[in-house]
Amino acid sequence: MPTVMYWFRKDLRLTGNPAWSAACKAGHVFPVFISEPELISAAGKERLIQLYENLESLHQELAQLGGALHLLQGPAEKVIPRLISELDVAKIFVNSDVSPFSTKRDTTLEQKINIPIQKHWGNLMHPPGSVLTQKGTLSKAFTPFYKKWNQMPLAEMPAFTSPEFIRVEKLFWEKPNITSSHGLNSGSAGAKTRLDDFLSRSERYEELRNFPGKSGTSMLSSDLHFGTIGPLEIINRVKSDSHSQQMFIRQLAWRDWYAHLLFATPEIIFKSANPIYEKIQWENNLLDFDLWKNGKTGYPIVDAGMRELRATGFMHNRVRMITASFLIKDLLVDWRLGEKYFRRHLIDGDIAQNVGNWQWVAGTGFDAAPYFRVFNPVLQSKKFDPAGEYIRAWVPEIGSLQNDQIHSPWTMTKNDLLIHGITLGTTYPLPLVDHAEARDRSLKAYKKVREI
Ligand SMILES: Cc1cc2nc3c(=O)[nH]c(=O)nc-3n(C[C@H](O)[C@H](O)[C@H](O)COP(=O)(O)OP(=O)(O)OC[C@H]3O[C@@H](n4cnc5c(N)ncnc54)[C@H](O)[C@@H]3O)c2cc1C
Repeated sequence: MPTVMYWFRKDLRLTGNPAWSAACKAGHVFPVFISEPELISAAGKERLIQLYENLESLHQELAQLGGALHLLQGPAEKVIPRLISELDVAKIFVNSDVSPFSTKRDTTLEQKINIPIQKHWGNLMHPPGSVLTQKGTLSKAFTPFYKKWNQMPLAEMPAFTSPEFIRVEKLFWEKPNITSSHGLNSGSAGAKTRLDDFLSRSERYEELRNFPGKSGTSMLSSDLHFGTIGPLEIINRVKSDSHSQQMFIRQLAWRDWYAHLLFATPEIIFKSANPIYEKIQWENNLLDFDLWKNGKTGYPIVDAGMRELRATGFMHNRVRMITASFLIKDLLVDWRLGEKYFRRHLIDGDIAQNVGNWQWVAGTGFDAAPYFRVFNPVLQSKKFDPAGEYIRAWVPEIGSLQNDQIHSPWTMTKNDLLIHGITLGTTYPLPLVDHAEARDRSLKAYKKVREI
C-alpha cells in the first residue's frame, strides 16, 4: 500500500468527510495539520483556542484508531515538500476551500511537488460552480440560487473506512502554548452534541431565531467553519420538512451561496460587489471605531453585541446585523474595517461568510439590503430583546433599568437615572451619535455616489 498524506484544513472530522474516506481507501495514511502563519496571525484568541481544542479532539479520535495527528508549523509550501520526501508520500488528499489564500497556496504547492493532490468539496453542500442558472451562470440573487440548490440531489454520505496508518518514529506536535478556556465542547463530539441539542428544539427555530436573549439557533457556525461537522451530515439529520426546519436549511444555503460567490469573484474581499459604492466618502473616524469595538457607543444593544464578541468570540446573527449597520451607517465607517475586526475575533470568523454578510449590511453586495435600510438600534432592541435579557447580560451597569428604559437610557431624566446609580457620560456613555441625524448623513453619502 502506498503512503498517502491526509492534510486536514477546515475539515477536522473523520465522518462525513469524502476526502478522508478516499484517503483511507488509497493507502497507509499520514494525517497532518499545518499551522499557517498567515492564518494564525489573523485569528483572535478565541478562534485559536477553538482551533487547537478541535485539533486535540481530532488527535484523540485518531489515537483511538491507532494513529495520530501530526501538527506542524507552516507555511505549507515549505513543510509539505519536506514531508513528501521524508515519508515517500505518493498522493495528498484534501478538502478544498474557496478562500483566495487557499486557492493560491494550493496552486503554489502543486507547482513545487511532483505528486498529485486529490481534491474534494466536503465542506459545502454543493461544490462552487455546480449551482447554476439556466444560462449556466452563478446567480447573483439569493432566491434563484436557493431554489436551484434545494432541488439538487444530495451527495451520498461518505462511508467510514477504517484507516491504516503509516508507522513513524515520532509524533510531530508543535503546538503553540495556548491555554484552553473556551466554553464550547470541542471536536466532532461537541458538534454532534450541539446538533442533537438543536434538533430537539428546531421546531421553534423560526419563532426564536431572531432573539439574542433566547437559545433559538444551532450554534453550529464554528463547527461548520472548522469542519468538525459537515453540512451534509446536518441536513441528513434534519429529517422533517416543517417550515421551521426548512428555514434552518435555507441558512445553510446562504452559507453555500456566499462561498460560491467568493470563489467566483475573489475581489469582493477588497471591493464592493456593486462598484458604484466604491466612491462613498467614509468618515472613518478612528475614535468612533474604537468606541464601537469596545462596546462604548452608548447604544445598549450595540454595546452588548460588541462586548459579547470580545468576551466569547460569538455574537448572535441579529446583533451582528445591528452592530454592523451601526458602524457603517451611523458612524459612516468603511465596512472593510468592521469586516476585518469581526473576522479576527469571531470563532466562526470566515472570509466568505463574513465578507458576504458585511457587504449585505452595507448594501454594497450582491442581492444586499437596500442602501436606504438603516437599522434603528433602539427599535431593533425593543423588538428583539424586549425584556432586555441580552442587554442585561453584557451591559450590567444599566441592568437595573426597566424593560422600557433599558434600550435608550438617555431618554430618562438625570434624577431617574441616579436612582439606578447611573450617570450618563460617567458610568455609561452618552449616545455617540443621534441616530436620526446619522441616518440622514449616511443616506446623503449613499445617494451622492448613486447620482454620479
Ligand atoms: C455582519 C455579519 C458577519 C457575519 N460573519 C460570519 C462569519 O464570519 N462566519 C459565519 O459562519 N457566519 C457569519 N455570519 C452569519 C451568521 O451571523 C452566523 O452564521 C450565525 O450567527 C451563527 O449562529 P448559528 O450557528 O447559531 O446560526 P443558525 O441560525 O443556527 O444557522 C445555521 C447555520 O447557517 C449558516 N448561516 C446562518 N446565517 C447565515 C448568514 N447570514 N450567512 C451565511 N451563513 C449563515 C451558518 O453556517 C450557521 O451555523 C455573519 C453575519 C453578519 C450579519
